[in-house]
Amino acid sequence: MTVKTSRSAQAIIDLGACRHNLAIAKKASPGSRCFAIIKANAYGHGMEKIAHALAEADAFGVATVNEALQLREAGISKAILLLEGFTSLDELSLAREFNFESVIHHESQIQLLEQDKGTSLELVLKIDSGMHRLGFAVDEVSQAIQRLTKMNHKLKLMTHLANADDKHDDKTIRQLETFYQSIKSNTDFEVSIANSAGILGWPQAHAEWNRPGILLYGVSPFLHDSAETHQLKPVMTLSSQLISVKKLKKGDTIGYGGTYSCEKDMTVGVVAIGYGDGYPRHAKTGTPVLVNNKICHLLGRVSMDMICVDLSEQPEAKVNDAVVLWGNGLAIEKIAESAETIAYELLCGVTSRVEFIYRD
Ligand SMILES: *Cc1c(COP(=O)(O)O)cnc(C)c1O
Repeated sequence: MTVKTSRSAQAIIDLGACRHNLAIAKKASPGSRCFAIIKANAYGHGMEKIAHALAEADAFGVATVNEALQLREAGISKAILLLEGFTSLDELSLAREFNFESVIHHESQIQLLEQDKGTSLELVLKIDSGMHRLGFAVDEVSQAIQRLTKMNHKLKLMTHLANADDKHDDKTIRQLETFYQSIKSNTDFEVSIANSAGILGWPQAHAEWNRPGILLYGVSPFLHDSAETHQLKPVMTLSSQLISVKKLKKGDTIGYGGTYSCEKDMTVGVVAIGYGDGYPRHAKTGTPVLVNNKICHLLGRVSMDMICVDLSEQPEAKVNDAVVLWGNGLAIEKIAESAETIAYELLCGVTSRVEFIYRD
């Protein structure tokens, strides 16, 4: 049994904002179709809800076979791409049974297909154009294409960009050159290159298929641009409330380790959120927090269930007042920066203790 208590950290998920963000991706690259990337529980937002909301997506992309099965069980009938493909004959037969497209990034997967000798599958050959994570090396590409087409599988070609988040890094241009050189005369195949940063920042990377991920959730894929610059709207707003307001004296220290010492007599609020909810423990003193829609700042260390904030600017704040940790009115990129991480990790890290509320 779960009771509706006063302590409730909530993640409000705006499905309309998610649809809006997909429309931004389509507008930026009008000739392309989209694999909407909803791996890792749709970057922490709830994969099934997001999949149902994104009727305009041409297909979905997930990391694991289990994620793809969960989508089929939830009644999603669109094409689903397994971004890492299969790792065994069992997974391969599941891909066939449930009609998943598979990335083929390694020789061992071609061997499984040769053993399996089954009916034709939709496959996406992944080429390593310079990220050096998954994919066939340039000099292996022709042979891989030959072996796959000989078995009558249907093929697309893809690569992944390593540095597209920096619009001034010419690594992206070099990756594009390497990719197109590697596929040489194989121009009949549809191609997929761009992630979110590729879609919004690198028109040269647009192809038949794009793969938007983080932008769907209203987060800027770039190091230096805000989400607003690209008209993206935040999908998740993480909120909670004040559970204590108190006056402290100059010299009082706050929280574990007493890392913050009051510079003056001040009003301090305690917010019911902590790393047990997915708020990052490494957020520093000074990290912005919205209390009653006004910016205030984190003080001292983040605990498991609580953080302390400076209410000097709003001593009238009281218990139960609304607090926003990120989302509407407070860009998650700022919190990520202050915690020396990226918004992707914060979104994926919201824990099951947080109540998810969907708005449409
Ligand atoms: C996760 C992922 C994406 C989406 O990347 P974003 O930066 O979130 O847009 C695209 N392609 C592949 C292969 C991925 O693994």
